[in-house]
Amino acid sequence: HARETKKYQGAEPVTGDGVRIDVELNIGSASPEELEAACFTDGVGLFRSEFLYMGRDTLPGEDEQVEIYTRVLKAFEGRPVTLRTLDIGGDKKLDCLELPKEENPFLGNRALRLCFTYPEIFKTQLRAALRAAVAGDLWIMFPMVGSMDDIRRAKAALREAGEELKAEGKPFGTVRTGIMIEIPSIALIADMAVREVDFASIGTNDLCQYATAVDRMNPAVSTYYQKYHPAMFRLIRTVVETFNRAGKPICVCGELGGDELAAAVLVGLGMRKLSMGRAFVAQTKKMITGMTISRAREIACRVCDMETAAEIQEYLTSELQDIL
Ligand code: PEP
Ligand code: MG
Repeated sequence: HARETKKYQGAEPVTGDGVRIDVELNIGSASPEELEAACFTDGVGLFRSEFLYMGRDTLPGEDEQVEIYTRVLKAFEGRPVTLRTLDIGGDKKLDCLELPKEENPFLGNRALRLCFTYPEIFKTQLRAALRAAVAGDLWIMFPMVGSMDDIRRAKAALREAGEELKAEGKPFGTVRTGIMIEIPSIALIADMAVREVDFASIGTNDLCQYATAVDRMNPAVSTYYQKYHPAMFRLIRTVVETFNRAGKPICVCGELGGDELAAAVLVGLGMRKLSMGRAFVAQTKKMITGMTISRAREIACRVCDMETAAEIQEYLTSELQDIL
């Protein structure tokens, strides 16, 4: 079965009724193994840049970051590369930056909030990203955005980085600016957020954690962490419809983006871009090519009316049996 699914790796992700779904890659470094899958995918939907900062004693400098981001942009030969700015705190720690211990780290000073606390670290990354952007199509994405203030503040920092480079006469490229939708508060004001950004991507891992109030790292409550919770699909539906109406790109880059059962629902809700780790590319393409938009819509409609995660999972497993 696995070998049969693998054959879909290089397939064109087009539904049976002719709709193209972009299949993008989640990466955590610019290593050759990570970049190997570039030829099968439509770009990088999520470059988790924090891994550049982990397991080392010093912070990565601007030039070093420019080199790494450039390498990824070149490997993707003009296709979009979505660079997520530093997302540490919560479960991710840095050796090169001592952070105060927090009672509730997932509700604490993490990701974008931490970048606001350390503006020089943030600035270095934004300058590097802008400089690398001359090598391709770079999209900059801010994690853990919870409010309009967060978006405006992050965009202001990016603008400042650009002004600095301009004043120094250093060449830099243009970028698209977007956000991760992984905090329920921003999902619920997506109609306003969409006006401030060029694109967004739904981080279902954190969205599930925050929507259901379940620590994603705590095994004692893992049964409460329900990725197929009906509330998840309703939140996603709101966001997709809003971005599609505005004509701005919207993607799912959390684990649900590479989940073969969820793919049909996401496409049915209007999602036309999915991003995932390279291990999930083939099964996702298989699902897309075996699906039609009309059938996916019907499935999404049914799912949004179901009451429990178990009911949804059972329904999808049986409904999609002919493609799985
Ligand atoms: C997410 O939260 O869904 C996500 C993609 O980010 P991470 O898993 O890195 O927190
Ligand atoms: Mg996240």
